Amino acid sequence: MTGPRVTVIGGGFAGVECAHQLARRGHAVRLLEMRPARTTDAHETDRLAEMVCSNSFRSDNPGNAVGLLKREMELVGSLVMEEARRAAVPAGDALAVDRELFARAVTARVEADPAIELVREEAPALPDPGDGFVVVATGPLTSEALAGSLLARLGGDRLYFYDAVAPIVEGSSLDLSALYAASRWGKGSGDDYLNVPLTREAYEAFVAALLAGEKVPYHDFEKAVHFEGCLPIEEMAARGPETLRHGPMKPFGLRDPRTGREPYAAVQLRQDDLAKSHWNLVGFQTKLKVGEQRRVFRTLPGFANAEFVRYGMLHRNTFLNGPAHLDRFFRFKGDPRVLFAGQVTGVEGYLESAATGLMVGATLAQLLEGREPLPPPFSTALGALSRHVSESDPEHYGPMNVTFGLIDDSALPPIRDRAKRREEIVRRALAEVAAWRDAALGPAPEASGAA
Ligand SMILES: Cc1cc2nc3c(=O)[nH]c(=O)nc-3n(C[C@H](O)[C@H](O)[C@H](O)COP(=O)(O)OP(=O)(O)OC[C@H]3O[C@@H](n4cnc5c(N)ncnc54)[C@H](O)[C@@H]3O)c2cc1C
Repeated sequence: MTGPRVTVIGGGFAGVECAHQLARRGHAVRLLEMRPARTTDAHETDRLAEMVCSNSFRSDNPGNAVGLLKREMELVGSLVMEEARRAAVPAGDALAVDRELFARAVTARVEADPAIELVREEAPALPDPGDGFVVVATGPLTSEALAGSLLARLGGDRLYFYDAVAPIVEGSSLDLSALYAASRWGKGSGDDYLNVPLTREAYEAFVAALLAGEKVPYHDFEKAVHFEGCLPIEEMAARGPETLRHGPMKPFGLRDPRTGREPYAAVQLRQDDLAKSHWNLVGFQTKLKVGEQRRVFRTLPGFANAEFVRYGMLHRNTFLNGPAHLDRFFRFKGDPRVLFAGQVTGVEGYLESAATGLMVGATLAQLLEGREPLPPPFSTALGALSRHVSESDPEHYGPMNVTFGLIDDSALPPIRDRAKRREEIVRRALAEVAAWRDAALGPAPEASGAA
């Protein structure tokens, strides 16, 4: 008996989705995950698909590109989307989950799947695919040993940058009388978030404290290039006194029911677990030192006795230059038996990472069944991600969330009204993904192992 022809390295968002797509079509997969024996700077458990920062998959509105991506992934039978829906917590028009419930359920599904052999061990180097395939889905915190091996394979062309994690506080340690419940513009059930209102004086004092707070220094050997979508708050504060008030501390659409007015600035807290005991400071990624985080954040109204469940932190992000090295199927140009999936390809986000895993799984299923693979068209959110990875300018390549700007709408008839145009893009993308699924993968099999 021969072993599986596909080895997936990394049991994160991309790796589990890729393995699931193969397994549900009857293809055996070996999934290597190095935790718990070796862990990363951000993971805290041994679970697969662990959310290392926010507990949100962002907007669930199909009029938003990431909302469309969710619908497309559901059309193809995404494991991550199935379990995210099951573990959802209230979050306005976003899809946020109880992170523990979610990761536990994904892990249980993978462990119970007879087609997936989960091996808890590190791949210290890129293995030889032999007559099979290797998928590298090791994420932004790829182990040093494997990163070194990849670097050698890519000829020294690798990029670094930093992201920062937002802190989480214990709800019972906050003075809730200083906060109020409201979602921006009354979205969702209207009161999904807790908001910390700040007067102008309190805001200015807070900004000054942030700027003065001691930060974790950058390592010399890594280049500090921030991703604009995930800037640490103190970096934003340093850009100007109003920057935070127009960023993560924006009060607009957050009327305080007690005063009937919007405050001068506000910090939003998003529920992080079903029990409503943990609250995430939305957009508050930071590289302040831990003691400084305690000191500075406790100056916020209601936070005098705040207990931190997790502190914000600085982290490395490893990704390769997608357009220089990958084709639209995420195959390595130097060896098409090696494929990459997830954040390491230069997509950004839990969902985008899972989406690339889904596409790589679909490609491999077709190849294993002896067919030339069909790609999702660039006019879909899925295809837009492969377009970003394979067709961007390699000179200016950087991590990207899915956006409407990446979706090819050149074949659409002229529609002036922006909202109507978006509606048409969404309508067409969903139809095209369904057609692609049927042509590339055949009728969708029953979900494997669903509870
Ligand atoms: C600190 C941090 C905060 C982030 N915050 C957010 C956020 O709030 N929202 C968001 O949407 N995205 C966030 N991201 C970005 C990104 O979406 C997530 O990192 C996402 O988990 C990427 O999915 P992935 O499958 O590519 O990698 P991961 O989910 O990280 O999975 C990779 C897996 O590979 C394993 N591994 C690594 N090397 C090896 C090896 N050599 N052998 C075997 N296993 C290995 C790791 O243990 C890990 O389980 C954040 C990233 C980081 C690092």
